[in-house]
Amino acid sequence: MVIFHVDVNSAFLSWEAAYRINECLDPVDLRTIPAVIGGNEKDRHGIVLTKSVPAKAYGIKTGEPLTDARKKCPGLIVVPPNYPLYVECSRRLMRLLRKYSPCVEQYSIDEAFCDMTGTEGRYGTPVVFANELREEINQKFGFTVNIGVSSNKLLAKMAGELKKPNLTHSLFPQEIPQKLWPLPVEELFFVGHATKHKMQLLGIHTIGELAKTDPDILKAHLKSQGMVIWSFANGTDVSELVSEPPENKGCGNSTTVASDLTDMDTARHVLLSLCETVGTRLRADRMKACCLAVSITDYEFFHFSHQKMLPSPTDVTIELYRSAVRVFSEMWDGTPIRQLGVHTSRLTHEEAYQFNLFDRERHDRLMCADRAVDAIRSRMGEDSIFRACFLTGPTKNMAGGLDRTRRTGITEGIPDLFPNEKDPI
Ligand SMILES: [Mg+2]
Repeated sequence: MVIFHVDVNSAFLSWEAAYRINECLDPVDLRTIPAVIGGNEKDRHGIVLTKSVPAKAYGIKTGEPLTDARKKCPGLIVVPPNYPLYVECSRRLMRLLRKYSPCVEQYSIDEAFCDMTGTEGRYGTPVVFANELREEINQKFGFTVNIGVSSNKLLAKMAGELKKPNLTHSLFPQEIPQKLWPLPVEELFFVGHATKHKMQLLGIHTIGELAKTDPDILKAHLKSQGMVIWSFANGTDVSELVSEPPENKGCGNSTTVASDLTDMDTARHVLLSLCETVGTRLRADRMKACCLAVSITDYEFFHFSHQKMLPSPTDVTIELYRSAVRVFSEMWDGTPIRQLGVHTSRLTHEEAYQFNLFDRERHDRLMCADRAVDAIRSRMGEDSIFRACFLTGPTKNMAGGLDRTRRTGITEGIPDLFPNEKDPI
């Protein structure tokens, strides 16, 4: 196997800089001055999303409040995010990658894995071709990428994270002892703050020390995660490339929050609002859900989701909500959120109900209340009746549904962003 991991360097900032230079003929390259892409400044939650190298030299960090960043660098240029631009830049990059690889798995807005197995005959050795590809991306789009080259996804990603920007690194299994093992353990995929701390207590400081530790010891201290990071440290990753997301069966909904969501109370409101919409749809279809998933897209467009079987099939909004909160609190570590979703699956027509798991009497009352609310909303409109907790605050009582971009396709209005383009791919 030959896998490439392609990752845009400081994506939001690079895309904005390239756009200003190529399309707006702006003489200033944001990458060469202290500049950041930052969330809404009027909002106290405004944070640094991406920073330029000169901004980094002032000690500015991704995720820190803009007010702190300005204190560190008084003349800092703050550019608001332009998500339609990022989506379009991302789409162009993916389209180019698909020209060369039959199997491209987009991993985040600015990262993708490409299966390049068997392409040597056509494109040359992997590292040589990776360099050509990097050059083509820079020439065509005006931004740089790192390309990691290896025989599986994990090693390709780890390789891509080595030195930045604008570089190709290989990390084949035989290179692990020399390139991967000397690195500090927290650089390994899946090793966060808490795990790093546990590693330190075990006297493990480098990835190499982790790789050589008896897996039984890791299992005793870190349960199944111990085994996962131990095999990562040894370069083992069995996951395959998935070029298409799995087909969705079931009923779900997601919403992009107005400003990055960082507190549990707001998250609960958004989850309830999503469950209102999902529950309404289930009841309209006379279906009950057996399984519920919550998905989070964070401020860097990383997407993760987690699911659970419900104690009993249900279409009751509050029961869906309680499960959603449980699933959410198990997976959320406080990372600022851009988008939240609730998805139900394993839908059933059955009226089967496990008496002992939800309180039956309470369930019946809630079911009747939901039906009554549905009837009122269908006659008088969605906003005619809602829970009192939605009286104040920014969250709407029924979140999601099809917003304009999803209804019309995300490209609407975006081609104008690149009027000077001569060679569309
Ligand atoms: Mg990146």
